[in-house]
Amino acid sequence: MKDQPQSAGSVRVSDHKSGPLLIEGGAGVGKSAALARRVVRLVSGGLDPSRVAVITSTSNAADEHRTRLESLLEPPYEALVVLTWEEFAERVLRRHAVAAGLDPTFEVVGPAERLAMLLVRFDQLPLRHHQIRGNPTGLMSGLLKRIDQLKADGIMPEQLKAESASESGPEAVRESEVADLIEIHDRMLAELGCLDRADVCSLAGRLLEENPEITARVNADFPHLVVDELEDLSPMRAALLAQLIVGSESAAMAIDESRALIGPGARQRVEAITPGVPVITLEESFRLGPDSIDAARAVLAGGEITPAAGWHAASDSGSVRFWRSGGSQAEAQAVAREVEHAIGEGADPGSIVIAVGDSNRDGGVVAAALAERGVPATVGGGAALFRQPEVRDTIAWLRALADPNDAPAVTRALTRPPVELRSVDLAKLTVIARRRKLDMVSACDAALESPQISPEARQRIESFLSLYRAAAGALDGFRPDVFVRRLVERVGFRRQRLFAAKPETAERLLGLSRLADIATTWSRRDPTGSTREFIAWLSALADTGLAVTEFREIPDAGAVQVFEVSEVKGRQWARVYLVGLDRASDSDRRAIATAITSADESAVLSRVDADPKRPATTGGPYDDVFTVVGGMEEIHEEELFGPAEDLHATYRMMRDEVIEASWRAGRELNEPRLDTAIDVNRAITRYLELLKLAALAQRPEGAVVSDSIDAINGLLGQVATPEQLAELETSTLDPYLLANERDRGLRQNLIDSKTEPSLAAFLPKRGGDLRLSASDVDLYLTCPLKYKFGRVFGIPQAPTINQRFGILIHNVLQRYHEPKLAGEEEGGLTQLMSLLEQGWRRSGFGDSNDELQFKDRAYAAMKNYWESESKSDNEPVWLERQFEFKIGPHYMRGRVDRVDRTGDGGYEVIDYKTGQKVNTERLGGDIQLAIYRIGAAEAWDLEVGSGSYYYVLDGEKVEIAAGEGEVERIERTVLGVGEGILSQDFEPRPSPAVCSWCDYRLVCPAAEA
Ligand code: SF4
Repeated sequence: MKDQPQSAGSVRVSDHKSGPLLIEGGAGVGKSAALARRVVRLVSGGLDPSRVAVITSTSNAADEHRTRLESLLEPPYEALVVLTWEEFAERVLRRHAVAAGLDPTFEVVGPAERLAMLLVRFDQLPLRHHQIRGNPTGLMSGLLKRIDQLKADGIMPEQLKAESASESGPEAVRESEVADLIEIHDRMLAELGCLDRADVCSLAGRLLEENPEITARVNADFPHLVVDELEDLSPMRAALLAQLIVGSESAAMAIDESRALIGPGARQRVEAITPGVPVITLEESFRLGPDSIDAARAVLAGGEITPAAGWHAASDSGSVRFWRSGGSQAEAQAVAREVEHAIGEGADPGSIVIAVGDSNRDGGVVAAALAERGVPATVGGGAALFRQPEVRDTIAWLRALADPNDAPAVTRALTRPPVELRSVDLAKLTVIARRRKLDMVSACDAALESPQISPEARQRIESFLSLYRAAAGALDGFRPDVFVRRLVERVGFRRQRLFAAKPETAERLLGLSRLADIATTWSRRDPTGSTREFIAWLSALADTGLAVTEFREIPDAGAVQVFEVSEVKGRQWARVYLVGLDRASDSDRRAIATAITSADESAVLSRVDADPKRPATTGGPYDDVFTVVGGMEEIHEEELFGPAEDLHATYRMMRDEVIEASWRAGRELNEPRLDTAIDVNRAITRYLELLKLAALAQRPEGAVVSDSIDAINGLLGQVATPEQLAELETSTLDPYLLANERDRGLRQNLIDSKTEPSLAAFLPKRGGDLRLSASDVDLYLTCPLKYKFGRVFGIPQAPTINQRFGILIHNVLQRYHEPKLAGEEEGGLTQLMSLLEQGWRRSGFGDSNDELQFKDRAYAAMKNYWESESKSDNEPVWLERQFEFKIGPHYMRGRVDRVDRTGDGGYEVIDYKTGQKVNTERLGGDIQLAIYRIGAAEAWDLEVGSGSYYYVLDGEKVEIAAGEGEVERIERTVLGVGEGILSQDFEPRPSPAVCSWCDYRLVCPAAEA
């Protein structure tokens, strides 16, 4: 944090005698520094620092104030009281719990725990008129935000009920449900002895209002208040401030309304509490240059809050730059590259923040790009705890123990340490599970009898089963916290990490401890709750994507921070990268402006736009700043790493691999298996390769890589054993170093290829040729790793409610049209409804809110469908017609839902959709209907002019015309996909939109921290 020259206004803050004082001014004018000097001044007069309450809105600001005061104040002193509003309110309530009518052991829980609490009891919630659509987490997350907003605005359920009772229509019914939901939510919390954060400030405020003697004690404890970030003074916080300020000797408060993350209104609240409060205005920013201030003004222009006109820069420091990237990967790689270079030139990693829109959605791509370059990073916010590999391992074991049908969980438990079943053996297991219709654990049992399982794999499966049976036997016999701690020890997650010698080791160990702490807290709240109930709650908690209250991450000072843009506030950073601004909306403007003005040296505003011809000014926060600040947009494309460019990064990555391999081999030396010698030799070979990379990175200037490799290989050949030489010869490192890497994914494949035998036998083939469908092609292009999980491993999955519903609608429509194709009379609407009724009963749907809503939508959709069919000139001529043809060496196959003869005598292929709209622009154009059209021509000899997606639930039919060169485009695409599958290039392609819906997130390494 930069300290600044002391202005006259700042001196007046220090010298302020008594009563309230408001300091206003934009970022960088020295408000926080002035508040700190005020504390020093008070202390220099003999006051104990612990009698000054320093209150902030963000934890970041509290940390900054604490650090600053610790550096300014001479010990000894009792303690510093630097807290957020909620922490201060909790402290008051805890000291006076009985007077507040609370159990002294009450717990304050955040959104993640509350959301998990609602999700596990979702069936009890009154949400018949809120659309669930198979995803309660999304709906409940939105409703929880609404509850918090209503509470922050002081709106009670009774008021909501009264308002909705005076209205009619679906919106009023939903409002009434929200009112009921708030009451149920509060009742559930009370039963568990918990408070939500929104309640603590109002409860503390009410306690002080109703108990003057307690207020007097609090005032006696803290006669002086120092409040920063007053712009985020919500009505609840204001209620507390109003009570604190009355009896205080002094209250120095700083406000910058343009940084109000909660919206306008704080200034009016302050004035209502302290009418006529003296104001000191600071206008000169010593920390920020004119570009940063102009950028902030541009983002905020036209909004509800604009910065004060007098705010100006005192220096020319700092820069604002603009980036445009061809995709999220390219953007993340560009950030990682620049950050790596900056660190190489001496920048402190802890002074760099990368601000993303949503850390669960966008943080993974950035973290992966940083990891690829060996840059230490901490992804904050969101469910950071649940992105840690060992925490995910533990959750996978817990889920697998609670439900052996949970195939992703069992898969993770099998493939991660300590079992580490290899890919090829996992593929054999899933084949057994599918063929014999077994859950994955029973498939493990069955595999032991199979001659196709190698002795090494049998050993690994036996060790899994032995651990599984022991843990399953104890599952119902221990309290959740005891069980989790024992599981962690028994499965050895802690031991695996202890000597991994990576910088994040401590953080990972802490993560495991936090998981056990979460179990302890849960058991305390619900002493009779079973471990199975805890597992259900923990799974819901992990799925919320929100930060766990108990797990406040301690930023690693030596790591780059990846935060959500709203979490940047409260700290000063040397460099701020704001990525994904193309997705930013008007509601993000204050957070973006705040992030820009948190950068001392440079702020980079980055957007993704694949179209280089698109003008930079298309609206939105990015463009507003670009228009005002000006300059050049730097263009970034996805990079193709080459060894010459990146030997250091490869070295760092290989170094981690060597440490992991040696740890693994070392463990096996204590518990030898049949393949221990192989693993030991591999570990030594990896070390020799690391030596090779170190030598190459330091080769004499001008030396050619290929010559150096030959020379180094000659020397290594003199020290390696024949087994190690054989391993070196099969290594892909040399080709990797020599070739210009085709894509960056090869680096990970390199590692994979060393330890994993080929999966060729499990690729979907007929004879030697691949068999592909349109959805296979789409899936591979979306994420090759997802294709591997779904199509190569074929990890068994229970169908989701959306999938079951889609099958039902397809069956109903097929049966409806069949009689006419057979020359019989079509049954009309009555027949259609009767088919739906029968299908609904047979499909095993129940009467949960979600299922009943699907039923309502199905009835409405069938009526719409019948009406629009009655008006159509088209005649269905084939239903569920199959095709197969070849593109190059690959078989393309598929089944078309419906083929119509159109009114003009042509043909149309139709695909029914019951889910989201297809993005036909993605992947260079529509894939599915194009393949159907080519399939019709090739397999049926039928020229099909048009193709449509029929969105049955919306009653909308969207025609997708055949584009020019469609056949060549599809051929090129299919051949590229086929080549990728055959070469087993299954590099993950994490993308926010796809990963959030991916069924394999638990198994996917790209979804980890
Ligand atoms: S989580 Fe994302 S990266 Fe991983 S397999 Fe799924 S889609 Fe691919």
